[in-house]
Amino acid sequence: MEGFVLEHGMIGGIAAKYGAKVLYNERIAGYTSFNIGGVCDVVVMPGSADCIRELIAACRSTGTKYYIFGKCTNVLISDKGLRGVVIIIGSDYSAVKRKGTRLICEAGAPLIKVCNAAKEAGLTGLEFAYGIPGSVGGALYMNAGAYGGEMKDVVVCCEYLDTDGSVKSINTADMGLSYRHSVFTGSDKVILSVSFELKPGDKAAVAEKMNETMRRRREKQPLEYPSAGSTFKRPEGYFAAKLIEDSGFKGYTRGGAQVSEKHSGFVINRGGATYSDVCGIIGDIQAKVFADTGVKLECELIKVE
Ligand SMILES: Cc1cc2nc3c(=O)[nH]c(=O)nc-3n(C[C@H](O)[C@H](O)[C@H](O)COP(=O)(O)OP(=O)(O)OC[C@H]3O[C@@H](n4cnc5c(N)ncnc54)[C@H](O)[C@@H]3O)c2cc1C
Repeated sequence: MEGFVLEHGMIGGIAAKYGAKVLYNERIAGYTSFNIGGVCDVVVMPGSADCIRELIAACRSTGTKYYIFGKCTNVLISDKGLRGVVIIIGSDYSAVKRKGTRLICEAGAPLIKVCNAAKEAGLTGLEFAYGIPGSVGGALYMNAGAYGGEMKDVVVCCEYLDTDGSVKSINTADMGLSYRHSVFTGSDKVILSVSFELKPGDKAAVAEKMNETMRRRREKQPLEYPSAGSTFKRPEGYFAAKLIEDSGFKGYTRGGAQVSEKHSGFVINRGGATYSDVCGIIGDIQAKVFADTGVKLECELIKVE
């Protein structure tokens, strides 16, 4: 079935119809913050909701596997690449519009762009998100958060493509937002746009808070190396990084992957790290931390193969 779609150029045809970028046999590593991932059959970068809808309908009708990504900053993709169609909802679908205190963003808009729009308009509420490198779609998918804030605090509604191909709109109360979770997590729904409701604030104060957040990130996180951010979710009552360090994993290395010496919650790619290097580290940490403390560490990054 995959061959059918590729041979008949259905995906290429839809991409051409909408002027979307399409690449064949493309190595995905360069699109990810981890710089890991092999050659994928087809990578498409849609620029409109209609294009996304048609691509998914074509995949569904032909039984072709497809994957949705934003900025690929929370994923660990197999070195074998991905068979089927990779749909990257990124910078080609990233318009941000402001209406008063509301920012309406296409799903591929990078959080940094949305934060900058808020800053420019003197709107407060999104300071916590400054420096989270994902898209708004990816951020809503897992209710991204930092420094005491989370998407749940600022999102008011979103539009998404439901599994039957229809476009629906829901408010925050129906998004099931909790720690690193939403109704979208693990579902086949695709987030198309996200609206934020912010509060009027002082432009200089907003800018200062964002700069301060970024300073803290630079100081504490190994931003000089590729990674997918925090490897594990925060277990209730504990800090993952402390558990990892206490079990002796600071600096622990497998191939090109290493538990960061700067922040044990991050696995970094020191050069040439593979999917299995990182998976190996994750498995070793989970086993030892469980043996030492009885705490089960759950992955925050998403393995895709
Ligand atoms: C250095 C660094 C620091 C980080 N700091 C933080 C932090 O402080 N807080 C935090 O929460 N996260 C953090 N992250 C992780 C990551 O940036 C966030 O999880 C971000 O929200 C992921 O967005 P993305 O667009 O990159 O998603 P991707 O990695 O592309 O995808 C992640 C998941 O979301 C799904 N998805 C993406 N877009 C859509 C869409 N439009 N519709 C439906 N599903 C979609 C994908 O299918 C996938 O399952 C950090 C990462 C790095 C590398």
